[in-house]
Amino acid sequence: MAATLTGSGIALGFSCSAKFSKRSSSSSSSNRRCIKMSVSVEEKTKKFTLQKSEEAFNAAKNLMPGGVNSPVRAFKSVGGQPVVMDSAKGSRIRDIDGNEYIDYVGSWGPAIIGHADDEVLAALGETMKKGTSFGAPCLLENVLAEMVISAVPSIEMVRFVNSGTEACMGVLRLARAFTGKQKFIKFEGCYHGHANSFLVKAGSGVATLGLPDSPGVPKAATSDTLTAPYNDIAAVEKLFEANKGEIAAIILEPVVGNSGFITPKPEFIEGIRRITKDNGALLIFDEVMTGFRLAYGGAQEYFGITPDLTTLGKIIGGGLPVGAYGGRRDIMEMVAPAGPMYQAGTLSGNPLAMTAGIHTLKRLSQPGTYEYLDKITKELTNGILEAGKKTGHAMCGGYISGMFGFFFTEGPVYDFSDAKKSDTEKFGKFFRGMLEEGVYLAPSQFEAGFTSLAHTSEDIQFTIAAAEKVLSRI
Ligand code: PMP
Repeated sequence: MAATLTGSGIALGFSCSAKFSKRSSSSSSSNRRCIKMSVSVEEKTKKFTLQKSEEAFNAAKNLMPGGVNSPVRAFKSVGGQPVVMDSAKGSRIRDIDGNEYIDYVGSWGPAIIGHADDEVLAALGETMKKGTSFGAPCLLENVLAEMVISAVPSIEMVRFVNSGTEACMGVLRLARAFTGKQKFIKFEGCYHGHANSFLVKAGSGVATLGLPDSPGVPKAATSDTLTAPYNDIAAVEKLFEANKGEIAAIILEPVVGNSGFITPKPEFIEGIRRITKDNGALLIFDEVMTGFRLAYGGAQEYFGITPDLTTLGKIIGGGLPVGAYGGRRDIMEMVAPAGPMYQAGTLSGNPLAMTAGIHTLKRLSQPGTYEYLDKITKELTNGILEAGKKTGHAMCGGYISGMFGFFFTEGPVYDFSDAKKSDTEKFGKFFRGMLEEGVYLAPSQFEAGFTSLAHTSEDIQFTIAAAEKVLSRI
């Protein structure tokens, strides 16, 4: 997959089909405690257990659908029961049984400077003393807006909302309002939140013929949703041919994180920029995941392609609920109350979320940030792929800056149908093995991994050693 891109920071995938020899798995958890600075003898000999997590999750199942408030947390695709978390600091997360893990989920992206950063917590404490939400303008909104506008090439004006879902929902309404057209193109396997129009071929969801992925989504809500395979510029051209003058926008993840980690071919993103311009359609980069992660200016800075509109989330809220959409001033001026396109929010721009975002971006804007993320993520990805090679597994993978992923297939992986060739059963075994070794990966083959500024070289080396151990016994 990523081997096709020649830009910096892309790891080469590889494949290897020779079968490895299985080793004993009896010492699976013996080393997990060594990630701590000092451990007691009692702790060293303590067996890995998730008993409290299991009890809590069993209780949760009676209280919340599936026991969770967001589906992928339920571990359905990797088997076993989810780990119930208690606290997190830096690169580590700790469950209610007292097990500590090196965390590569990072709250699904926001924790890019590490969990519970001291500066962010101190700033939040100060802000909190003045109140948590006013439902009225506050100065902190100006500060974060200026930071976002000066960082992200396409953004001349921004609207803060409370989640990535809200951002994508708002941006689609805006694109339709601005162009006066209804149809839009999304790509198979890309996720843009759970608003009705986007729930078609949305990541690991059911892939059916233009039908909604979920009951409850009216057919009418997705009848203007056109889909194409990722990285397939010919398919996009065909859609424009067949729907002349009717397409408002193309929306995409400029690097996919919701089908696993998939990078765009250079000719693909250049192509969609050209096609949208030629056809009077808008180009929307959903940078909820990639924004401030691939580079300070997001994927658009990394690839040098400027969309018309951009959605953000995750990192700009520094771990508090935030989303945003922004873009060209002439388009953004359609948003109420400057213009007629309605969109609102009780908690939008609240001082707490703005504070966490401001202090997170401040840290990210310091020199060397993205070089560091690139260095450790390269070490991690190459190390895991090398471990796969040594132990005889067909694997491929890649990374850019603080985002990475790998598949249990020879690759290359250019789109969701390639991604689905991955041996997900093997991924489940790998995931559970890594958990026992003290490494918390995303509990799905079809999710990207995230590193942070708090991850050290020791964390990475520990993870690679754990991966080799697990891979040699599955
Ligand atoms: N877009 C992308 C690219 C995402 O990865 C996500 C969430 N993972 C969303 C939108 C939705 O964001 P949220 O979960 O904050 O609603």
